[in-house]
Amino acid sequence: MEKRSFKGGIHPLYNKELSQGKAIEVMGEPKKVTLPLQQHIGAPCQPIVEKGQDVVVGQKIAESDKFVSAPIHSSITGKVVEVTEKHIVIEGEQNSKFEVKNVRDIDSLTPEEIRSIVKEAGLVGMGGAAFPTHVKLSAPEGKKFDTILLNGAECEPYLTIDHRIMIEQPEKIVYGLRALLKATGAQKGYIGIELNKPDAIEALRKASEAYDNIEVATLEVKYPQGGEKQLIKAILDKEVPVGGLPVDVGALVNNVYTAAAIYEAIKEDKPLFERGVTITGKGVVEPKNLLVKVGTTFKEVLEQCGGLKENAAKIISGGPMMGRAVANLDEIVTKGTSGILVLTEDEVELVEEKTCIKCARCVDACPMYLMPNYLAAYSRKSMHDDAQEYHLFNCIECGCCSFVCPSRIPLVHLIRQGKWEINSKRAKK
Ligand code: SF4
Ligand code: SF4
Repeated sequence: MEKRSFKGGIHPLYNKELSQGKAIEVMGEPKKVTLPLQQHIGAPCQPIVEKGQDVVVGQKIAESDKFVSAPIHSSITGKVVEVTEKHIVIEGEQNSKFEVKNVRDIDSLTPEEIRSIVKEAGLVGMGGAAFPTHVKLSAPEGKKFDTILLNGAECEPYLTIDHRIMIEQPEKIVYGLRALLKATGAQKGYIGIELNKPDAIEALRKASEAYDNIEVATLEVKYPQGGEKQLIKAILDKEVPVGGLPVDVGALVNNVYTAAAIYEAIKEDKPLFERGVTITGKGVVEPKNLLVKVGTTFKEVLEQCGGLKENAAKIISGGPMMGRAVANLDEIVTKGTSGILVLTEDEVELVEEKTCIKCARCVDACPMYLMPNYLAAYSRKSMHDDAQEYHLFNCIECGCCSFVCPSRIPLVHLIRQGKWEINSKRAKK
């Protein structure tokens, strides 16, 4: 099979065998959900319900009039028990069921109507970034989309939820891709899948065989193969300009799970109030792929997987490369939560940082052709102008540089810190 790829990147241990054979299981309904008003990149939502009000599953409970925002819907049927600036808490009776309807089809909708349905359903990128999907569908003035790419690479170690959705619901993904093509006017759609998921490649090829304008592109198994710019390079052999966006080369990238959610929004009028999550790692008793109501605590989700093992030491929301360590189990599953990873004591040993030996391994690994050693050194010393001259903001924070560094310098951490300092300075001006 063809093996498309990009320059740079790394080959970490994938550790997907812990959960990849586990079909998506529907998690029991939580008694209470806490729905944060900021679940996406962009403006937070404002509550449109009050304390004491009864709500049903799928009902819109918060929204914003800002363009870059996505409304929030209740994930259970119950009563609103708390409304704050940060969240809405709903308590239910554990019997809420969303009635799946077959309400409409792509053919009867205009591109504007598809974009509006996507917006009303509160869809965001489900690969982790959580950028509102309807915003992505609108090309800036003077630009247009030719190609839609669906990211089915799932190159992050441990995570398997995209793999499961591809083999369990390939028709939904193809339908979502067709909707994206119509909504944007793009002519061609690709679904990029790494070669270590042959069953997903077969399922998507079968589901798309009736559509000449849709192709499954097979990709080398390499991290970060699913990065927007890496996917575009691998499939279209185009480079997104420095500081530019995929639309600059006529492309739009979405996650396969988001495409399946677009199907549900159009066909079933189902907003995004639940999502598949991979719960995995050697620190979990029984790793699983679970369909979880947004607003459920990590504690409850982990209980569905037998709980934590005695040697559990660190919990990460997302994958090990781009995920974020969480402080406690009260953390909430949001629309962007793709995984809960629990590492054990022996996996999180602290190692001592040494001096840079100028081996350039970080430079070779960087998929954005940056010089991570310089970026980190300048960030460490708060030399912000120099860091920006070396294109600090083009770093996608993939962590390849830190992964390969023999001196164990926390390169990506320093780079993130540098970006944060610059952004804080800008905000104060
Ligand atoms: S500098 Fe940024 S983009 Fe390059 S390898 Fe490091 S984290 Fe990835
Ligand atoms: S990989 Fe580490 S030691 Fe090698 S050049 Fe980069 S920062 Fe220095």
